[in-house]
Parts: sequence; structure tokens; C-alpha cells
Amino acid sequence: MTYNPDISPLGSQIKNPILSIIVPMYNEEQNVDRLLEHVIPVVEDIEPNYEIILVDDGSRDNTAEKVIEYCEVNAKLKFLAFSRNFGKEAALNAGLSYASGQAIIQIDADLQHPPEVIRTFYQEWKSGAEIVYGQRTSRDDDSALRGFLTRSFYKIFATVSDVKLMNGLGDFLLMDRKVVDALLSLPERERFTKGLYAWVGFKRVAVPFDVAPREHGQSAWSILRLYLFALGAITSFSTIPLKIWTYVGLFLAIPSFAYGGYIMIKTMILGIDVPGYASLMVAVCFFSGIQLLGLGIIGDYLGRVLKEVKQRPLYLISAKYGFDQAKTMRSETAKIKKLPC
Ligand code: UDP
Ligand code: MG
Repeated sequence: MTYNPDISPLGSQIKNPILSIIVPMYNEEQNVDRLLEHVIPVVEDIEPNYEIILVDDGSRDNTAEKVIEYCEVNAKLKFLAFSRNFGKEAALNAGLSYASGQAIIQIDADLQHPPEVIRTFYQEWKSGAEIVYGQRTSRDDDSALRGFLTRSFYKIFATVSDVKLMNGLGDFLLMDRKVVDALLSLPERERFTKGLYAWVGFKRVAVPFDVAPREHGQSAWSILRLYLFALGAITSFSTIPLKIWTYVGLFLAIPSFAYGGYIMIKTMILGIDVPGYASLMVAVCFFSGIQLLGLGIIGDYLGRVLKEVKQRPLYLISAKYGFDQAKTMRSETAKIKKLPC
């Protein structure tokens, strides 16, 4: 697919929009028309002073071309394209960095988040809420296995982390400018955003909604990707997997010492007892397994520390459309300064 990084920004832009809508997109060419057909009338109706930022997360289909066609005729639409697929969390982060509204809404491109709910979000924000989040009441297109794994993940997360996640929260939410600035000020690269939304605090209101089934394309989340995501979430918000090895070690060391003492005394009294190969092998395998597991966990944390130390940007932008040149250049310069020499 061809991106043109030199596309010039539109002359007429919306100055200081009240509402910013951010849409992460990965291979969503079939959903672009429907999304904008549904979202634009709702937003026009509630707040005509708005911007919609569509972030193309390195799609391999014609998402970018389709979005640019819309941007050419509607100055309220803005577009960012990544140099490759960096993941939804990075796409949302880019949208937040470039958004200039006072209230910022994140919505998926596949219309699983019903645009009508934006009206309620906006009313709640007007009445003083600082985070208004969509609370999923059903998830019809999930398989039983995925549902089970997701529920198990939330249970484990609640046990090992101090942060209390908001029930049924996805990425469909409205945030006040204060919340967005707080999120953007967090320097970490490994971003489990559901945890960060909970960590920042602020006044929050839940709005229940039914998750619509995805009509076109496929969910980009394979079971493996979900597993890695869950692992990242837990290690970003808890050090219990690291600390637990002290207790596992203690738990195993006490009977081991007792058993060792017993063998010593037995050998001194009864002499060397040659049989015992099986129990020796079992002990060697068991303890080396436990040690490798512990080392693996330490390695995982170390890898994450390395990622943070490297300070690589969360994403790289290959093209943008519809942004004020001065604002864009400021944020780009900031990013370049952060790049390692
Ligand atoms: N998405 C993205 N980058 C990715 C994967 C997904 O920007 O690497 C976008 C996708 O286009 C959609 C949203 O994130 O707008 C949610 O993705 P998806 O529908 O695949 O996830 P699910 O609904 O299964 O959580
Ligand atoms: Mg979806």
C-alpha cells in the first residue's frame, strides 16, 4: 500500500474543537463507509465543533486510501498513518496525543461500539463526569474458550494487582482533557490502558451498552495475542509473579532440609544406601523445573525493563492529514528528542 507522507494539511481546520473522536483502524477498509455514516450524524447533532482522528495502524488493505478520500471533503476529519502495525494501544495513544478537544472519545472502527451511545457519554460529561465508559453487557461473537480465558484473566489480575479495573470496561469511553493529559504524562512504554484508566482515578460514570457483532473483517486478536497482552497487563501492574518465588522457594526448602537431614542421619547409622535413583531424578527434575520457571518470570520482567530503558517511541507516523502544521511539528520534535542516539 502506498502512503504519501507529504500530503499537505487542509487549509481550513476546526480550531479548538470541543469534542475529539479517536478511531484506531487495522484492515478496516470495509468498515470505513459504515463507520463514518453512523458516527458523523450523531456527533454533528450533539456538538458541531468536533474532530474525528482516524489512526491507520499499518493496515495492509486500502483503509488509508478510503479514509483520505473522506478527509478531502470533510475538514473535521483528520488522519494519521503508522509506518507499520504497532497495535491498538499505540494507535489510541497516537490519537490522544494529536487530539485537541476538551472531551475525547475512543471508538472502534468495526461498529461494535454503537455510535448512539456517544450521546449519553457527552451528556454525562456535561454533567461533570471526567471518565464516562461503556460497560459491556454482552459479547455475542466471543467463543466459549475466549470468554473463559478473558474471565480468568480478570480474576487473576484482580488477585495480583492493587489497581481495581472498572467492570466491563473496554476501550469505548469518553475522557476529559484532564484525564487525557494525565495519561499522556505517564512515560511507560508497556501500556495496559485499562489498568491506566483505573490508575489515574477521576470522577467516573459507567454507561451499559450491548456489544454489536462485527459485520466485516476479522478481530485482530488471536488467542496467542490475547495471552501476550494478558501477560503484559499483569507484569505492568503487579510484581507478585516475581515475589512469589521467595515463598515457593521457602515452601520447598523446609521439607527439603528436613529430608536432607533425615538422609544424612540414616546414612550415618545404616551406611550408604545405593538405591534411590528414581527419587533423585524426580527431585532433580522437579527443582530444575521450578528454577527455570522462576528464571523465566524474572526474564520477562527484565525484558520489559529493557524496553522501558530503550525509550523507543510507541509508534512512528508515516503520513498525516488535516493537522495544524505547527502542532504536528511540535509533537514530532518532542518525539525525535526522545529517540536514543
Ligand atoms: N486495531 C488496531 N490495531 C491492531 C488491532 C486492532 O488499530 O493491531 C483496531 C481495529 O481496527 C478496531 C479496534 O482496534 O477498530 C478493535 O479491534 P478488533 O475489532 O480486532 O478487536 P475486538 O473487537 O475483538 O476487541
Ligand atoms: Mg471489534
